[in-house]
Amino acid sequence: MNTKLQILIIVVVALLSYNANAQTNKCATMQHLEKSLVQDPTLKQRMVDSEKATRQWILTHVQSKKANTEVIVIPTVVHVIWNSSVENVSDEQILSQIEVLNNDFRLMNADSLDEQHPFRPFVIDAKIEFCLAQQDPDGSPTTGITRTQTNVVAWGEDNWDNIKSTVNGGKNNWDPTKYLNIYVVNLDGKILGFAAFPDELASKPDLDGTVIRYEAFGTNGTAGTGEFSLNNKGRTGTHEIGHWLNLKHIWGDSTCGDDLINDTEKAEEANYGNPTFPHRANNTCGSGTNGEMFMNYMDYVDDSCMFMFTSGQADRMRASLNGPRSGLLTSIGCKLPTALNEVNILNAATVYPNPNSGKFTLYINLKNITLVNASLINMFGATVKEFGVISKEISTIDITDVSTGAYYLRLSNSTTSTIKKVFITK
Ligand SMILES: [Zn+2]
Repeated sequence: MNTKLQILIIVVVALLSYNANAQTNKCATMQHLEKSLVQDPTLKQRMVDSEKATRQWILTHVQSKKANTEVIVIPTVVHVIWNSSVENVSDEQILSQIEVLNNDFRLMNADSLDEQHPFRPFVIDAKIEFCLAQQDPDGSPTTGITRTQTNVVAWGEDNWDNIKSTVNGGKNNWDPTKYLNIYVVNLDGKILGFAAFPDELASKPDLDGTVIRYEAFGTNGTAGTGEFSLNNKGRTGTHEIGHWLNLKHIWGDSTCGDDLINDTEKAEEANYGNPTFPHRANNTCGSGTNGEMFMNYMDYVDDSCMFMFTSGQADRMRASLNGPRSGLLTSIGCKLPTALNEVNILNAATVYPNPNSGKFTLYINLKNITLVNASLINMFGATVKEFGVISKEISTIDITDVSTGAYYLRLSNSTTSTIKKVFITK
């Protein structure tokens, strides 16, 4: 083989592998939808009807640009399904994902487009937030996190539904009309995650939720490990929850396809990696000189390269929250159970920092309440430590000898008791 031929082969192999990479399906939401369409013959028509309702709602509301648009807080539960202990991601990692969601959906992300960028006028605060649930569907206090050890080593496509099935090695979702269920699992292959669309809820409530692989979840711990180093900023969560709130991919899942949004440029296909603006200027779908909006959360670029939702996308998400997902608007999942919330001790007490390494400051405003007894209880309700009567407004609590995890600090006096969630991370 001569040298020129060797070089040609190397170049061709490189091109082939690039193409293979370019066609990598990072998100399996459309595959999930295709399965649902096969299983439920009524889904297609429901999606058509729902699309009309979505457009009508947007026409009559156009909420996202109004200054007085109310923030919607979505009660969220994170189900960690783990086989190898590395997959049992820490509370700290879970909190990092919630923080990313609250930044991205509220336009608090530090990497947003600068004011001069041509796409900046389309960037929007979607006014959607996420809280880790404070009470479970039975009304019991919860950290908003469940942990399930499983015999399933990795979840392949044939097994996806079982992630949400307790009897099959996964975990049943919490009432999907009242909670966003996020599953953290070890997915087979290279898929980063997938979600169920709002219209799937009516026929398959038990399959609702979003699934994220543990290496692409949050911003610390296992985030970005192994071959997923470019998925280290929690944007798989932002992307999948975008689907869960009825957003399609920016390229409409076909060449120059329609994502049903007016203010996202039409894209020829998915974008990968870290493109430079303008990318695909004057593309074949008729984009202008600014090219494609590859930095949108609903594209396939690296985590560090995606940082915006548009007004049209925010309206569409809010339409779903006033349509198929409207049950979330009346969910009390973010509130402490009533029995624990009777008196204002909770409002008078603050733990900081939280999460902490086991040493934290407890501030109690003792002006308006009688002396308080404090104890630490674990997730199963067992008392781990007694602190006795707290007589100072500011106390330093040292529980560095307890293991990492979520606990409740129970505060009580002669008339009532309440709890504060404390996260210990080391
Ligand atoms: Zn996707």
